[in-house]
Amino acid sequence: MDKLEIEMPLVNKCSKESCGYNNGCGCHAKAITIGDGTNPGCDTFFDSSRHTSETKRVAGVGACKVSVCKHNTDFECQADSISVGEQEGGVKCLTFERR
Ligand code: SF4
Ligand code: SF4
Repeated sequence: MDKLEIEMPLVNKCSKESCGYNNGCGCHAKAITIGDGTNPGCDTFFDSSRHTSETKRVAGVGACKVSVCKHNTDFECQADSISVGEQEGGVKCLTFERR
């Protein structure tokens, strides 16, 4: 497999333990996508009784479509790290701050 090294903000915590990528309140996807317009939801979330066995890798934020967030430039997140969890009935980026 070819490898790509890229700097991304880390997902330092995710409390949505029902997600398939979650193990021990950590996100272990390679990268996640946040956002849909002004809603900073986790697009990568999927509910699953089976969870990743990967527990060492920490996910990065590969893309974020929430341009109204003050951490967003050109549809990319510029924060050092983010947290994800339940908010207002959805799974959201809790680091979101409206400009
Ligand atoms: S950040 Fe998103 S993809 Fe990662 S574990 Fe949480 S809900 Fe799942
Ligand atoms: S902090 Fe803002 S820019 Fe970064 S992922 Fe969350 S909503 Fe997107």
